[in-house]
Amino acid sequence: MKQLFFICAIAFSIVLQAQTDQKIYDIVDAISADRIKQDVKTLADFGTRHTLSDTISETRGIGAARRWIKREFDNISKDCSNCLNVFYQSNLVKKGTNQRIVHDVNVVNVVAIQRGTKYPNRYIIMSGDIDSRVSNPADFTSDSPGANDNASGMAGTIEAARVLSKYKFESSIIYVGLSGEEQGLFGGQGLAKYAQDNNWDIVGILNNDMIGNITGVDGVIDNRTFRIFSEPVPANEPERARRARRFYGGEVDGISRQLARYIHKTVKTYMPEMNPMMIYRLDRFGRGGHHRPFNDVGFAGIRIMEAHENYTQQHQDLRTENGIKYGDTFEHVNFDYAKKLTAVNAINLASIASAPPTPTNVGIGGAVQPSAKFKWDKVDGAKGYKIYWRDTTSPTWDHSRYVGDVSEFTLDGIVVDNFFFGVASVGADGHESIIAFPNTIIR
Ligand SMILES: [Zn+2]
Repeated sequence: MKQLFFICAIAFSIVLQAQTDQKIYDIVDAISADRIKQDVKTLADFGTRHTLSDTISETRGIGAARRWIKREFDNISKDCSNCLNVFYQSNLVKKGTNQRIVHDVNVVNVVAIQRGTKYPNRYIIMSGDIDSRVSNPADFTSDSPGANDNASGMAGTIEAARVLSKYKFESSIIYVGLSGEEQGLFGGQGLAKYAQDNNWDIVGILNNDMIGNITGVDGVIDNRTFRIFSEPVPANEPERARRARRFYGGEVDGISRQLARYIHKTVKTYMPEMNPMMIYRLDRFGRGGHHRPFNDVGFAGIRIMEAHENYTQQHQDLRTENGIKYGDTFEHVNFDYAKKLTAVNAINLASIASAPPTPTNVGIGGAVQPSAKFKWDKVDGAKGYKIYWRDTTSPTWDHSRYVGDVSEFTLDGIVVDNFFFGVASVGADGHESIIAFPNTIIR
């Protein structure tokens, strides 16, 4: 009996090992709230990081800020035997492009690429923003510390690079500071175009914009909940895809939504103390962020963000009015929370970059049959595949079956009409790809 228990315990632990990876827990632990704090302080102390601000000074303005960010990435790279390829990527935006561009400006992003060992041209991106603003979006001289918006996201991105650069991954990871966000998402547009021009295979972008506020303007204090915004289906999908959806489903199953579900699941697995909220919308009501330019051209992308915002501390001139202190200053940022949201990013970058690519050409069938049928193209590096399904009303992939190293499978007794389905590839060490929603029909 004792022996049987022992054997069962071993079998159980092997199953558990296959589902989690100690490396991911180590990454959570290695993210430092103190280093994020120092970096938010440094960024806020550049006075303003407005996109149109001074670029000559070494102490004030966006030029000084981006040079500092590049030096940080360069230093991280030195510590990992030059594992990062660090460079500026820039685009000239002409005066009058919109009302917020009051003079010609070079919108400069700082990019750091950690090259994947197996899929060097496959990229998962983490972004924060370099730039800041006050009440008037065209005011490029007033003090604009932008501590939460968005030094928090920028500092988190740098910290993720510090931690993840100690590891090797199969796919490439990009850490990027984007500029021009507050002027009209110009930095994201520039990098998305650069990615297209260079034929980058982008798995998705995790855009971090405001990851450090836990005290909402409504008085709610919450250091566990955060939001994952994702659009339902690609904005640039072909008309054919839109029409097919009426008959085969997929209204809430676009590539950005699958990325959001992946993040939700990874967090539930490795950071169970956190409360990730999937928000089924591109971004906040009528507002924007730097994942959108990537979505615009068909890349998956989501926004990671605090759950409770404080509007007296966003986009505000520094002032006191009716006893309220306005402004996005350093003392309002909660660094333990920013650390947690940085860890959310880091574990997802690590998981995705450790997993094989998502299966392609996933077909589904089974109309007027008591079973659901699947077919897909195998991907290089997968040890097998997993079919997921869920009730049509469920936001999460609640059921799954590992089906081994095959390229087709029939789920007996599962009626295709009653669920939504997807297929993921599984790597040798158990890391899974993002789930593919079927895109072809098996007759
Ligand atoms: Zn903003």
